[in-house]
Formats: sequence, C-alpha cells, structure tokens
Amino acid sequence: MNYTQTWRDRTDLSKNEYWKLEKDGLEILKELDRLSTTPFEQIDVSDIERLKWAGIYCQRPKNGKFLIRIKLPSGKLNAAQGHIIADLAEQYGQSELQITIRQCIQIHNLTLNEIPDIFRALDSVGLTTVEGCGDVPRNILGNPLMGVDPEELFDTEPIVDEAVRRFVGNPDYANLPRKYKLSFSANPHDVGYAGINDLAFVPAVYGPAHTPGFHIRIGGGLSSEPKLSKPLNLFVPPERAVDVAEAVACIFRDRGYRTKRNHCRLKYLIEDIGAREAERLIEAITGPLPHGGRTLTKSWNRGNFYGIHKQKQPGLYYAGLCVTGGVLPASDFRKIVALSEKYGDGQLRTTNTHQLIVLNIPEDRCPDFRSENILSRYPLRPKAFSGYQASCTGRAYCSFASIETKHALNRITAELDERFPSLRMPIRINLTGCPHSCAHPQIADIGFTGGKMKTADGTLVDAYAVAVGGHLGPNPHFGTVLKNRISADRAVDLAADFVSHYLNGRKKGERFYEF
Ligand code: SF4
Repeated sequence: MNYTQTWRDRTDLSKNEYWKLEKDGLEILKELDRLSTTPFEQIDVSDIERLKWAGIYCQRPKNGKFLIRIKLPSGKLNAAQGHIIADLAEQYGQSELQITIRQCIQIHNLTLNEIPDIFRALDSVGLTTVEGCGDVPRNILGNPLMGVDPEELFDTEPIVDEAVRRFVGNPDYANLPRKYKLSFSANPHDVGYAGINDLAFVPAVYGPAHTPGFHIRIGGGLSSEPKLSKPLNLFVPPERAVDVAEAVACIFRDRGYRTKRNHCRLKYLIEDIGAREAERLIEAITGPLPHGGRTLTKSWNRGNFYGIHKQKQPGLYYAGLCVTGGVLPASDFRKIVALSEKYGDGQLRTTNTHQLIVLNIPEDRCPDFRSENILSRYPLRPKAFSGYQASCTGRAYCSFASIETKHALNRITAELDERFPSLRMPIRINLTGCPHSCAHPQIADIGFTGGKMKTADGTLVDAYAVAVGGHLGPNPHFGTVLKNRISADRAVDLAADFVSHYLNGRKKGERFYEF
C-alpha cells in the first residue's frame, strides 16, 4: 500500500515526536553493538527511549538494568524457542521469566552488553523482541488455540503470521502517535479481548451463505481514561483482514493526535470522529467492504483455558496450566517445555492471563500427562482466586509503578482461597501498579489500581482504587469505581465482603459481574 505521511509538517508536536523525527526508533537496531559497549550514564536519554523499539525497556531503578519483551504473536511458541528462552533467563535473567498480559515473555535484569548475544540466540530460533515496546504495532494478541480450537470459525494463524510479516520492523508503521494494539480471534468467547484493543477482529458471518469473516471493533483502550472499542458495520473477509489493520495503522499514523502524550492513543481519535467516519476512512484506503453481517461473539471466557480439552483434530487434546502471577523459574519453564515434547509435538501457547497451554497431546497420553509432578505447582484446575488473577510487572521493574504487585496479589488471592475453600465459581481479581492499567483492573470482577494514601496518623501507605464488576464479551462494560481508595492491607477483607455479599444474594446461575 502507498500512504501519504501528512503529520510530519505539524507544528503542535509533543517533545517525544521531535526526537522520533530526529532519528527513527527502529534506527536503534543498527546501534545496539555501539550501545552495548557504552557506559549507561553516557547513553542519550532519547536513545534509551528508542531502545523500546527494539523491545528493550529500562527498568526501575534507572541504573543500567533492562528487560526484554519477547514477542509471541497470539501466544505461539515451540519447544526449541522455549529452551532458548529458558537458557537466556538462566544465563542472564536471574533464572526467572514472566508471561505478560499480552502473551509475551519478559526476561529482566539484563545489561546492554549482553543484548547482542541474547538477540543472536533469539534470532536463531525465529524469535524477536523488535517492537515489543514503543509507538508501534505491539505483540499481536489473539486466540491461543488458533488452529486447534474446535470452536473457532476458521484458523487465524495465517492472518496473524501475515500481520507480523507486514508490520514488524516496517518503517511505514514505526512512528505511530502511540502504541497500536491489534487482536485477531475467530473464537466466539472473546478470547481476543476485543473491547480493550485499538483494533480487534472478531468472528462474524455475512449474507445468506453465512460467509465466514470478521467484524471489527476500534478504539478500545484502558489507562486512566478507559474506553471500550466501538463496533463498525464492516464485514472483513479473512483475506482482507491485514489490509484493514494496515489501513487503520495508516489513519492512526497520519491523523492521530501527537500533541499531548496522554491523549495520543487511537481511542481519542475514534471518539472524536465516530464510527461512521472511521468506516469511511478505512474504505477510502481498502476500497469498498461489505456492510452488515452478524457477529458471533456470544460470551467471554475471561482468557481461561484450564484443564485438558479436545482439539478440533480428532484424538488430540490441549492442556491449560496455571502460572500464578505469570512468574516462573526458568527451570520450571524448561520442564513444561519438555512436557510439550514428551506428550505433544513441542507446540505451546501463552495466554494473556498468565497461562501456558501444551498442544497436541494424544488421547491415550492424557492420563500420564495429568500425573506429572510439576502440575502440582502449575495446576490444570487452579483455585478460585489464585488461578484467576492478573497483575502487571509493578514496582519490581516498572518505573511508573506506585506499588509492588505480584507478591501482593499472590498474598491476597491465597488468603481468599483459604477463606472460601469450597468456592467453585472463579473470581477474577486484577492488580495493576499505576493508572496505566496494564493489568486491566477495569474488566476484572474486582480490580485494584495501586497508588498511595495517608493514614490518619499521616503515614504514607500503599493504597488501591477499587472497581467492581467489569466484563468483556458481547456486552462489555467496565467495573464500577468506588469513591474512596482503600489502604492495601484492607484489600482481602474488602474482597471477602464483596464475595460473601455475592454468594449470599445471587440468583441461580448469576455471575459475579451480573450481581
Ligand atoms: Fe508499569 Fe503501571 Fe503498567 Fe504496571 S500498570 S506495568 S506499574 S505502567
């Protein structure tokens, strides 16, 4: 596609835009060898920012340690890649890794002089961190069961692969106003979290023949001013999906806001121009698309794939394991990768809810799989709170964070599991370290957003803003935000009160978010 980049002549750009114009973010990839031998204090601040385009993120405190975000489009991972990731985490990353809320894997505590070797190792197995961060198309979120999902309308893997081919490292899309979050799923349970992505493709059919394809939702995003994406009245045949994703990237790039950094996400542009104008702008680039059709999204599975289930391939099963908080030692990750080789064909998937999925297990091997020791730590059927939580990186590594998140949420959910030992209905509690909302507090049953507050005696303590009853799916809505923050040490009691109230008053079959 040919695009006209019109925004470069504007005079109202934020200061980030000027250093992006001075030197493109992707240019940093050519300078990694130089930076790897430059003392941290001597690296220009704008180059530290540009490192995000390489998927390298400066950790907190800013003293020369970095994290890398390894991109796994739609969570796709194979055993060879898994072993390399485990090797790298062991050799460089203090033997720990994190599965992120966007299906990536992060390794922390790296120094820039280690990066060239790390990148060579990743490249050897077809992995990249490029555009893991920065004002670019981020890791493509999608159905972790693509290709094996008995419920998917069609396999989205070729579409995800094509999107990666057209977007990653493409200078045409390397200077967007902010990040661009794409999601592709043909599963009817909103596994792609369509309501909160910049552009989401959801399953749909069109016309009397029920031709399979996508509907799209546009302009979703969280942060401190969350907005649900708007459905457009366009039907997108699968083979046109990446064209549409490119068209929206182009619209975002050329018309998106670039003045106030916190007002530059696509959601603000879409809110201002509206759905009909968005449709018009897209079709002006792609040519006419069919209007109408029927969306097939019927529920939200909340990103859960636990247990052993049938694949669409007869005789084969997938197994969804819980990685509480998404953090695991490299040695355990290696063992789970080895399970995928022992029982399956070495294919795994990550989810956006801190889970690992092993694919392609023959039916007669499932009993042995179930009896593997490591499943006591990474269970197939986790408890109602600890297995259904989500947290962001938090103060351990993120310079925006007000609070520690991973351990805090593990403590909260472990305590709630003890207080409600027989609860079968999972309750999803999300804890995010600051209002940027990377852990999606707005769509949790109970969402906590970290901050600070003063107690009666003037002591500054960790505190949470609270939202209750968020939900995605066909009728998405954000949780109701309570008026006052609570101190972090009250979180367990408050959550327990909500849950008791729900259990005592719910009607038959009523879910927490419906209560
Ligand atoms: Fe960092 Fe805030 Fe995002 Fe957590 S929510 S990872 S603290 S920016």
